[in-house]
Amino acid sequence: MRNVLIIGSGPAGLTAALYAARANLNPLLIEGLEAGGQLMLTTLVENFPGHRDGIMGPALMAEMRAQAEHFGTEIIQGNVQAVDLSSHPFTVTTSAETYLTRSLIIATGASAKLLGLPAERALIGHGVSTCATCDGFFFRGKPIAVVGGGDSAMEEAIFLTKFASHVTVIHRRETLRASKIMQDKAFANPKISFEWNTEVDDILNTEKGVVTGMKLRNSRTGEAKTLDVDGVFIAIGHTPNTSLFKGVLDMDQTGYLCTHDGTRTSVPGVFAAGDVQDHIYRQAITAAGTGCMAAIDAEKYLEGLPQHIGEAATTA
Ligand code: NAP
Repeated sequence: MRNVLIIGSGPAGLTAALYAARANLNPLLIEGLEAGGQLMLTTLVENFPGHRDGIMGPALMAEMRAQAEHFGTEIIQGNVQAVDLSSHPFTVTTSAETYLTRSLIIATGASAKLLGLPAERALIGHGVSTCATCDGFFFRGKPIAVVGGGDSAMEEAIFLTKFASHVTVIHRRETLRASKIMQDKAFANPKISFEWNTEVDDILNTEKGVVTGMKLRNSRTGEAKTLDVDGVFIAIGHTPNTSLFKGVLDMDQTGYLCTHDGTRTSVPGVFAAGDVQDHIYRQAITAAGTGCMAAIDAEKYLEGLPQHIGEAATTA
């Protein structure tokens, strides 16, 4: 029997673990398949407070993990395959084990959708990015491209004009999905141009290990061309990792977990933190912040349970 079980090992999960451990709740954290989360796919992180010269994404996650472990978090590798939240205590099952827990913190994050090109994965963090706020700064005075036609793509394109010499938006159709106001802002920006009805066939140059351009193809005319860019921002949406909770917890139309009064979900004792419940901010620092909130919310919830937490901690 656990007091707190945390699913996910990004900034939200590890911060929840740190706070729960320091509250003497003996948390168990199940890492998930993509241990460390989205920051494992970035290079230099310059906007996480406390690191004036920046820190590499994987190094930051290693620090967070070590800190959570230092205060007594038990971290296990594994992927959760099923949860049963219909009775209390809750049941969480991995391929190896079934755990019982009095409270659950879901920090399974969201995954940026990718185009599916081999070069995209190979060059992520080396010119390919899924986060303009994180990486825009590295492209000062350079030409870049943004792929996508929704609000995220327009927002990223507009934001990136602060740094880039030019931003080319590449969209697979001839009309944008973005809201009218975002479209108007993007159309009015002299640093943004559009490639319509355009598919990305490849991102160059995996041999050099950095982005030097893209191979594009017009889906109407079949015309192929190369666009010289130093950076490619993929902004075709995110998928929250919530398939385990479909029909069990309240979600919005796009699958993000709904929270209220802090990090509470629709089932008492179950809390959600980080990108799994946030499609707006999506930053490491906001994920860490909600992770902290989830641990405090879980602690308060446990205090209200009939069982004494001290007893639970000794049996955990
Ligand atoms: P989205 O609205 O789903 O748009 C995704 C875009 O990527 C679409 O234009 C889509 O093309 C394109 N796309 C998807 N898969 C693709 C593929 N495989 N290859 C090429 N293009 C592909 O996602 P989002 O822009 O991330 O927005 C998600 C939600 O957050 C929306 O509700 C949005 O309004 C909201 N949001 C709001 C703001 C804001 O208000 N400031 C900012 C960001 C996001 P098609 O159009 O052809 O489908």
